[in-house]
Amino acid sequence: MRILVISDIHANLAALESVIADAGEFDAAWCLGDIVGYGPDPNECLDVVRALPGLVCVLGNHDAAMIGEIDSEAFNPEARVSIEWTKETVTEENMAFMVDLPKHIAVDRVTIVHGSPRAPTFEYLLHPYTATLNFAYFETDFSFFGHTHIPTIFRLRNGYADLAVLEAPAEFALEPRLMINPGSVGQPRDRDPRAAYAIYDTAGDRWEYRRVDYDIAAVQDRMKAADLPLKHIQRLAEGW
Ligand code: ZN
Repeated sequence: MRILVISDIHANLAALESVIADAGEFDAAWCLGDIVGYGPDPNECLDVVRALPGLVCVLGNHDAAMIGEIDSEAFNPEARVSIEWTKETVTEENMAFMVDLPKHIAVDRVTIVHGSPRAPTFEYLLHPYTATLNFAYFETDFSFFGHTHIPTIFRLRNGYADLAVLEAPAEFALEPRLMINPGSVGQPRDRDPRAAYAIYDTAGDRWEYRRVDYDIAAVQDRMKAADLPLKHIQRLAEGW
């Protein structure tokens, strides 16, 4: 089965559409959270994600703020502005979809979370030490996570997680046990502004990590028109 793995779309429809067009045929889509927040098209992104085949999706921290599960005070001032704008913009139907999302879910050999297996919605997996502790919090061979917006892989070797930052394009077999991040569709933070995603092929556990161009300027214009924070508009062009 060929599975599209996407994370941190952040209401960036142009990036999401480029990813889907680039991905080719896939049997299912796994979404690792943060469909909304920052970007100008939350409803359109939610509509597209909800229509994906075989969708498995978990709740991200921005999604959680949207449904009122966490206080937007927990975010920095610019993120808060974006969250409040999104709250006013998202339809009731899309809100109801987010309310029903699980925080973590195991599908066959993979545990799917937004942040980390230990604290699924909030924890950032950036360092080998944190990652090492997290291997005790899931039982499957693999965990797919997002939240950091950086394509990374943590492999458990002799009880300790080693970290590698991935460079696109890359294709390799996943070997137990590991945690892997496909990067961010809508707001990359690894200095590469192209949309990031992965294809997970369950035959041979192949992982294909890809980057794809999209019309960043057009998204920036839409953000300006919606009066969204300048910081989030600027960062898209540079990928930070
Ligand atoms: Zn995010």
